[in-house]
Amino acid sequence: MARKVVIVGGGAAGLSAGFTLQKHGLDPLLLEAGDQVGGRMGGDRVDGFSTDKGADFFPSSYDVTFRICEELGLPIIRTKMDIGWYRHGRWVVTTPIDSLGTLLKNIRPFWTLGLLSPRGIWPTLKLAKGLRADAQYLNYASDHKIAELDGEETYGDFLDRLSVPKHLRVTLEGFLELTMGYPEQFGATWIRAFLGEVLFKPTQLYVPQGGCSALSYALADRLGGGIRLSTPVRRIVIEDGVATGVITGDGERIGADAVICAVPATKALEIMPDLSPRIRHALSKVNYSRGIRVVVGLNHRPLPAGWSVALYPEDNTPALLDRTVNLPECAPPGKSTLDLWVGRDRAEELFPLDDEEIVRQMLGDARRNAPPGSAIPNDDDVLFTRVYRWNEAVCMGQPGMFKAIVEMRSQLNQDVKNLFIAGDYMRSPIVNGATTSGVETAEEVAEVLGQHS
Ligand SMILES: Cc1cc2nc3c(=O)[nH]c(=O)nc-3n(C[C@H](O)[C@H](O)[C@H](O)COP(=O)(O)OP(=O)(O)OC[C@H]3O[C@@H](n4cnc5c(N)ncnc54)[C@H](O)[C@@H]3O)c2cc1C
Repeated sequence: MARKVVIVGGGAAGLSAGFTLQKHGLDPLLLEAGDQVGGRMGGDRVDGFSTDKGADFFPSSYDVTFRICEELGLPIIRTKMDIGWYRHGRWVVTTPIDSLGTLLKNIRPFWTLGLLSPRGIWPTLKLAKGLRADAQYLNYASDHKIAELDGEETYGDFLDRLSVPKHLRVTLEGFLELTMGYPEQFGATWIRAFLGEVLFKPTQLYVPQGGCSALSYALADRLGGGIRLSTPVRRIVIEDGVATGVITGDGERIGADAVICAVPATKALEIMPDLSPRIRHALSKVNYSRGIRVVVGLNHRPLPAGWSVALYPEDNTPALLDRTVNLPECAPPGKSTLDLWVGRDRAEELFPLDDEEIVRQMLGDARRNAPPGSAIPNDDDVLFTRVYRWNEAVCMGQPGMFKAIVEMRSQLNQDVKNLFIAGDYMRSPIVNGATTSGVETAEEVAEVLGQHS
């Protein structure tokens, strides 16, 4: 008899779980609260443009994610990222280092960013040396050992310990604040892994053709009719220590032999009030940043020739991204998009405003100190806009989160049978963590159901 598996949540984790269950001959039902799949790896298709709402890049260590892309026949493109940094009232541009020429080109910008300045060079070298020494722990591959290194130190304490001077601190913190809110409060281990994967290996960033959301679409295509959109789950039913199904927002009860919960940790706490205190305690260690992303469709390129990104680490001006530099197929010929991203207190201020006002203010912020040679559009010079508000953007994690989650993973099965938890925070809080956790939980489900049949 076919056994019923219900997956709650259609982000990278839930979709990867569904895909893997299908490979095991199972026919899962995936329930997604929103009217689209993808969650934080979702996107929109608008008049020949395709946008990404959340994830933008995949570092080279994304083993499970790359494998899934290969299985789906989705090509992966290596990006080229010239980045403009607005520092001390002027612009400098960094280029990924892949030759002596690009190394030399970066000397002046690195000086300005504090990486090579007299007071910055030693902390930079110590940081780089530490990342190298801890490389087996600090990466996003499925077999990373982040939890083993996860201590009580915050990123702020870590920078203090390295005696990082103010101007270098702005470089190492400011660009993170845009997407991550207040990185100095969060676990040093996580942020060090991020720096190692993104800042120190900028030549090794990849993106699926069509953008990260293309991966969500491709996974959803495979699942076909097994997905029900606009179906929030109000509760996962746990009876006598066994997960037996779910209750949807409409009160429909769907029975299941196994339930995979693949929603953010905050939502998992809401829909599983019956979990034991020790499991709830681990879930409560997971935090998220808040942020707003605005995507604007344009008839022209917004940034100076060759630039992909412009960053303002010293203030709240939105980060500017032209995805079409690396992904020209995401816009009709001759057109492009400008993504504007803001976090921290500026995101808090903008959150309650309506979409039109958010676009107006963020474009206005971007026009002040616009890079020379850029073409930040006027309000009436845009083809379309989309505003994505993220209450739960990037999973941050208090110090010790990884340890707590690893312990929780081993306890879960003792506390509740037939309940499986997936999601980025269960492995590492980025796309590869989500896909890895999805695949792993699906493998466990297949094994458990196989044993029972
Ligand atoms: C702006 C931004 C930029 C990012 N950039 C990158 C990047 O460049 N690279 C990278 O690797 N990662 C990036 N990330 C992080 C990455 O997107 C996430 O780690 C990953 O997509 C999380 O996948 P998930 O499946 O665990 O969770 P989610 O994507 O959050 O999926 C959870 C799903 O569950 C659904 N759901 C919630 N509650 C319920 C319910 N009660 N019933 C049914 N469904 C429910 C949600 O609607 C959602 O679709 C970024 C995130 C954001 C927001």
